[in-house]
Amino acid sequence: MTVLLRAGDFIEKGHRMTLISPSPYQYYSGMGPGMLSGMFRPQEARFHIRKMVEDRGGVFVAARVVHIDGPKRLLWLSNDAHIPFDVASFNTGSHVPVAWTGGSVERLVPVKPVFNLYLARLELQNLLRRGPLHLVVVGGGAAGVEVAGNLWKLVRDAGAEARITLVAGRGLLRDAPPKVRGLALSSLLRRSLNVIERVHLDSFAGRKVLLSDGSALDCDLAFVAVGVTPSRLFVNSKLPTGHRGELWVDRTLRSPDYPHLLGGGDCIAVEGMRLAKVGVYAVRQNPILHHNLMASLEGKSFRHFGAGPSPMLILNMGDGTGILWKKGFTVAGKMALKLKNFIDFRFMRKFQVSGELEESEALPDHSAIEREPGAGT
Ligand SMILES: Cc1cc2nc3c(=O)[nH]c(=O)nc-3n(C[C@H](O)[C@H](O)[C@H](O)COP(=O)(O)OP(=O)(O)OC[C@H]3O[C@@H](n4cnc5c(N)ncnc54)[C@H](O)[C@@H]3O)c2cc1C
Repeated sequence: MTVLLRAGDFIEKGHRMTLISPSPYQYYSGMGPGMLSGMFRPQEARFHIRKMVEDRGGVFVAARVVHIDGPKRLLWLSNDAHIPFDVASFNTGSHVPVAWTGGSVERLVPVKPVFNLYLARLELQNLLRRGPLHLVVVGGGAAGVEVAGNLWKLVRDAGAEARITLVAGRGLLRDAPPKVRGLALSSLLRRSLNVIERVHLDSFAGRKVLLSDGSALDCDLAFVAVGVTPSRLFVNSKLPTGHRGELWVDRTLRSPDYPHLLGGGDCIAVEGMRLAKVGVYAVRQNPILHHNLMASLEGKSFRHFGAGPSPMLILNMGDGTGILWKKGFTVAGKMALKLKNFIDFRFMRKFQVSGELEESEALPDHSAIEREPGAGT
């Protein structure tokens, strides 16, 4: 986002900037669960990245990169075009793998791309009018907990009924301190959500979800939040990668073998660091990427990325409260959610420079691309 916001810095110096993305919009995941429940309108949770880059003199190409030719500095796109470049930054993120479940596309909602959560809201508003539903959330991490809590709000606000079950796999919020786990569990149980721990999803069979303990659940719609994986783009392009297929970069966020390839966010593995796939690190890499892209083009010195302090995490529980934790400190309640909203809106204001809030809610035409699980990744 910083590189796009400051595209003018590159263009003033006579460089050309091209943004390649399948969608003209980028949604902010931190507000995704709130978009599901109706706390936020889609316009509040997205950046019009096409307008952002074009307003600054750059070029937008609606496509996916499907192959990178590192030595020849060529990008092959999903629309069969190819684009030569001097330096490229990869910020292609990650997706939720769903093919292994065997579930049909109509019954599955991978929680990434985040726009899926808005599409699911529209679908549920329709389905809930017809009668009570069985909704399943697969994955007991932060995304699964937030989605389950916000589904509850969606159902309640619709004046409808649904049985919501969270299948938590190894356990609810396994990486969080016990106090946070306890607060999240009691928040969900208080609202009669069904939480199943130490049980995994095995597969789908029609309208049933089959679980690892041999039991089965009825399921009208399942949200899959089992963690993310980067695309095979870098592996398939025969570039040096991390163990999960991320683009391998040094502390300057450049590929050591191909220093004209840079990257940030979920799609990179940084030498000597094990970073969680959270947006906080993508955001902290923003200014380094901006600086080092410019340094590559202008022959200046490079800056190094440092992971910084352990991030503060705040869960939006969907009932007007949040659960905040940072290192040993935990607090839950309305103030925690207020703080999350304050931080999120401040972040949005910084990059919503393209009239996003004045746009209509009408679905952008990329909805079909986004709904397809793992599309193009
Ligand atoms: C429900 C949910 C809630 C979350 N909440 C938080 C939170 O509160 N705080 C936090 O720190 N983290 C949160 N995360 C994690 C966070 O979403 C990610 O860490 C963050 O989005 C990573 O940013 P990114 O820019 O690397 O990638 P992404 O946000 O995944 O963006 C990748 C972009 O690249 C595009 N793209 C993909 N492949 C290609 C291609 N081949 N060619 C061209 N374009 C491509 C995609 O369309 C997308 O626009 C949450 C995740 C989920 C699922």
